[in-house]
Amino acid sequence: MDDKKMCRVCGSPVNMLNRFKIADGFVCKKCADQFGVGSLDGINALGNSTTQDVINRINRSSKNADLFESFTPTKETFSAHAGVILAIDDEKKQWCIHPKKIKNPPVVYSYNDLIGYEVLEGNQTIQTKGGLGSAVAGGLLMGGIGAVAGAGIGKKKSKGKIKDVRLRIVINDLSNNQVVLKFLNSETKVGGFVHNSVMESIRDVQSLLDYIIENKIEENQMDAIESDNIDSPQYLSAADEILKFKQLADQGIITYEEFEAKKKQLLDL
Ligand SMILES: [Zn+2]
Repeated sequence: MDDKKMCRVCGSPVNMLNRFKIADGFVCKKCADQFGVGSLDGINALGNSTTQDVINRINRSSKNADLFESFTPTKETFSAHAGVILAIDDEKKQWCIHPKKIKNPPVVYSYNDLIGYEVLEGNQTIQTKGGLGSAVAGGLLMGGIGAVAGAGIGKKKSKGKIKDVRLRIVINDLSNNQVVLKFLNSETKVGGFVHNSVMESIRDVQSLLDYIIENKIEENQMDAIESDNIDSPQYLSAADEILKFKQLADQGIITYEEFEAKKKQLLDL
């Protein structure tokens, strides 16, 4: 069958009015919905996806629906400027970001999936946090927004007028490695009322992202400590106990058989 008349994913017939363009053909409305065409960046992501990408994301989104079902926000912030809610579930160490009115469940990420973020004014990176190297900010590694290429990093002061403030969140996710939130779409004076209120709104989102990044580091450190159990107090105390029983055996207070039995018990053999 003609590629233009068939959904590449499920094979059902499509026509000019109900099909969605993907990188290597078309998909039907049902598959596009399952992909999450109604989500943040959904339509762009769909257009850039191959058939295999779409299949992978549909498979993941059914798992994700379950994740979102059990997601219980412990903290959330709504940005009127960007029109999104950023929510975290501190118990499960998960977060998600979604438009205020959602059709599809947003992708639920773990804290460790958050690589970092940058705040952009026009093509200037004015702030960055997390594991974003200069290559990432320059758009080289992520193949992201070309406008950022060559942008410097660090705190920079913009002057005059700007018409564009964005927050780019970089995620450890091959099918959708960034979410770009637009906080400003019309020209405004730097330092003016609108600009200040935009920056305040960004700071609210930033502080929650910072929280995620900080708690992610803690989680990693905890893992490192756990894997290093040779130095843990429990291990040392078992070794101390064995030495004590060895002395008792040497002194003839207990037998060597009793010592061996005790040693096995202490070492959990
Ligand atoms: Zn389909």
